[in-house]
Amino acid sequence: MKNRNLGCLLSLLLLSGAVVAQTPRRIAIRAGHLIDGKSDQPIANALILIEGNKIVSVTPGGSPPAGADVIDLSRATVLPGFIDAHTHILLQGDVTAADYDEQLLKQSTPYRAILAARNAHIALSHGFTAMRDLETEGAMYADVDVKTAINRGEVPGPRMFVATRAMAPTGMYPLLGYSWELDMPHGVQPVDGVDGARLAVRQQVSHGADWIKYYSDHAYFYGPDGILHSHVNFRADEARAIVEEARRIGRPVAAHAIGSDGIAAALDAGVDTIEHGDGLTDELIDRLVQQKVYWVPTVTVSVYVAQGRAGNWPKMIETQRAAFAKALRKGVKIAFGTDVGGFPWTELNQAREFRYYVEYGMTPIEAIRTATTTAAELLGWSDRIGSVEPGKFADIVAVSGDPLADITELEHVRFVMKDGVVYRNELK
Ligand SMILES: [Zn+2]
Repeated sequence: MKNRNLGCLLSLLLLSGAVVAQTPRRIAIRAGHLIDGKSDQPIANALILIEGNKIVSVTPGGSPPAGADVIDLSRATVLPGFIDAHTHILLQGDVTAADYDEQLLKQSTPYRAILAARNAHIALSHGFTAMRDLETEGAMYADVDVKTAINRGEVPGPRMFVATRAMAPTGMYPLLGYSWELDMPHGVQPVDGVDGARLAVRQQVSHGADWIKYYSDHAYFYGPDGILHSHVNFRADEARAIVEEARRIGRPVAAHAIGSDGIAAALDAGVDTIEHGDGLTDELIDRLVQQKVYWVPTVTVSVYVAQGRAGNWPKMIETQRAAFAKALRKGVKIAFGTDVGGFPWTELNQAREFRYYVEYGMTPIEAIRTATTTAAELLGWSDRIGSVEPGKFADIVAVSGDPLADITELEHVRFVMKDGVVYRNELK
C-alpha cells in the first residue's frame, strides 16, 4: 500500500515536471568585456556559464551550450557584484545630532525596518550584492530580520553580514544631553566592564550578529602636534575582552576609530578592521600593515557630513586624504566602505565611493578591487564572492561604458544578478 502511494507520487511529480526542474537552470552571459576581479586586464568577449546560483565556467570566446538561456551583454562591461563593507541599513542620514535623535525618538523599529527593506532594494539595484551592515543605531536586532527576509526571498536585497547593536561605554554614544529624568533610547548597547563586554558579545551573537562592532573613540580634535586625536571609549581590558570573546566564538571585530588615539587603542585590542581611520599616522599605517588589519575609509560620508557638522570635520577630509595616499603606498588592505545611512540612501548612490578612491590615488582597477576581491577577503568569503570565476556565487553586474576609463560609470549599473537571479537588466 505504501509503495503504491509512492509510485503514484512519483508519476505525479514526473507529469508536473517537478523532477525535470531539479536540473539546475543554465544561463550563459556573453560579456563584451569582463573585469573578473582578479586580473588587471579585462577579458574581451568572455562567456560566463552559470548553473543554478553558481558560476561554472568563464572562457574567452566560445559558444553557449545547447539549452542555456543566453543573456547578451556583448556591448557592456561585466564585473563581480559590488560589496560595501560599511553600511547602516536602518539609518536615513544623520548630518546633525537632531537628524539622528529624531529617527530614534519618532520612528518605531518596525517603521525603520520597512525603510531598511527599501534600502536593501536600492543597494541591490545599484549593483551591491553584499553588504556588511555595521549596527542598527538603536533598532536592536532588526538587521537580522532584514537579512532573514532577504535570504528567504521575501524581499530583494544584497547578502547581508550584520553587526546588530554595536557597543560603547555608558555615556559615550547618543542619545545624549537630555534631562536625567528621561529614560532615553540608546544608539548602541551600553557596555561597561570586562564581564559586561563578554556578556554583550554573547547576547549579540545569540541574536544573530555575524560581526561585533564597537566604538573605540569619540570627540575628535587636532593637537598642537597637528595630529587628529580623540578620546578613547573603552579601557584596554574592556576592549580586549570584547575582541577575545568575539574571537573565541568565531566572530570578527570592527572598530569605529577616527582619531589616532582611538585607532591605536583598537589596534592594541586586536580588531580585524578599522572604520573611518581619518587620523592614521605613519606609525599607525605601519601597524595596519604588520597586523594585517583592513582599513575601511568611508570617504563618501566624510565629504557628505563635513559642511553640515562644521568644526574640525572639513579639515578631517584633508587629513584622511593624506593618510589614504600613504596607506596606499605602504600596501594597507583598503576595503570599500561608504557608511551609507550616514547619508540618505535615497540621495546618493553608494558607488560614489569609487571616484574618491581614484581621486585619492588609486587606479580604477585598484578601486574596483576594494569592493570585490578585498572586501570579500575582509568578510572571509573569498571562496564564494568577490570575483567572476568558476565555483563562485553568480553575483554579477554590468555597466554600458568603460569604468577603467571613467570610474563614475560604476554609478550607473544597468544589469544586476545575485545568486543566479537577474534583478535588473536595462541592457536588453
Ligand atoms: Zn558607520
